[in-house]
Amino acid sequence: MNTFNKQVMHVGEMASGAKLTVPVYRYESSNTEAPAVYIQANMHGAEVQGNAVIFQLLELLKYCKIQGNITLVPYANPVACNHKNGEYTLGRFDPITGVNWNRMYHFNESVIAPFAQQHLDAAEHEIQTNFQQLLLDQIEQKLDHNIWGLTTGQRIAYQLQRMAHQADIVLDLHTGPISSKHLYCPEYAKASANYFDIPHTIFIPNDFDGAMDEATFCPWWSLQQSFKAMGRDFVMGKGAFAKESFTVELGSQEQIDLEVARQDALGILSYLQFKGVIESTEFIPTKMIRYACYLKDYKALYSPMGGMVDFLAEFGKPLPAGEPLARILRMDNYGDGDPLHQVSLDKTVLPILHFASASVNQGTELYKVFCNYFEI
Ligand SMILES: [Zn+2]
Repeated sequence: MNTFNKQVMHVGEMASGAKLTVPVYRYESSNTEAPAVYIQANMHGAEVQGNAVIFQLLELLKYCKIQGNITLVPYANPVACNHKNGEYTLGRFDPITGVNWNRMYHFNESVIAPFAQQHLDAAEHEIQTNFQQLLLDQIEQKLDHNIWGLTTGQRIAYQLQRMAHQADIVLDLHTGPISSKHLYCPEYAKASANYFDIPHTIFIPNDFDGAMDEATFCPWWSLQQSFKAMGRDFVMGKGAFAKESFTVELGSQEQIDLEVARQDALGILSYLQFKGVIESTEFIPTKMIRYACYLKDYKALYSPMGGMVDFLAEFGKPLPAGEPLARILRMDNYGDGDPLHQVSLDKTVLPILHFASASVNQGTELYKVFCNYFEI
């Protein structure tokens, strides 16, 4: 039976001096050839299902033939995790700065071109080792040699990122508000999307906006592009560039379901088996129609008016043009106006998620939908 060792990572301090800590579960493999994996959950406070998935992964991995190092981090953001207000968990934004907790990771694009220039004739394994070290040094510099200090969120994010940079495969487990399961997948890693038990995939380009998945693959993708411009061609996702990272959206916030978590864990194991992290043939991806679209076609629909929303459109089911997504109740208009307003679109879409509350202001994000989607 495999055992994961547990460490407690210190990621900050509260005003009272109480320590902010994060549990880290590690399996160390003697095989240095197999990909290393890093999986974290609950960076956003209300998005708790990933913790249950990590529980199920730990249970299932006890009996797997593990090839690579695996690091699992539940409760990745203790501030967000404990950020309650009344019945609800807030925890999407740092309450002090207003910044989204998942937009604080580090990537300095300006180091790429000089590194490529310097390593134009270097061996592939040397490029891999040195570039990984460069990324780690940059984080180290920010954390430990920085007299100006860091925000609370950066200190947490960089410590998580230090572990992620040591892995070849990174999964950041999130959820939507009220949501179907969906996956953010870098465009070059398309083939991997078929191994998760997730019916909706968004293919994302090489743009860094501060999120964990981008902070992991953008440096390598940018490096590959930089080498290409200098006449040296590497294939993204292969050899030294065999880095993949995903944001896995596991359904709705504010709930865990251990049975569903087991299914989610089995889907992740099917992907890890495909990548050679575990040696097995038993994990088969579930047969399902998998839809995808490009990030530019993943659209938010903002409410045309304030009111109380009856969300009608079902997730993952194509909704024809003109069919109502939702109807908005306006009791202030009853008797002398229009108490019901239907919201529809002028093209067929695939609804993916909707706002968590029925009461919305004008301009609240009502739905997010796939446009121009296709099967993969
Ligand atoms: Zn999230």
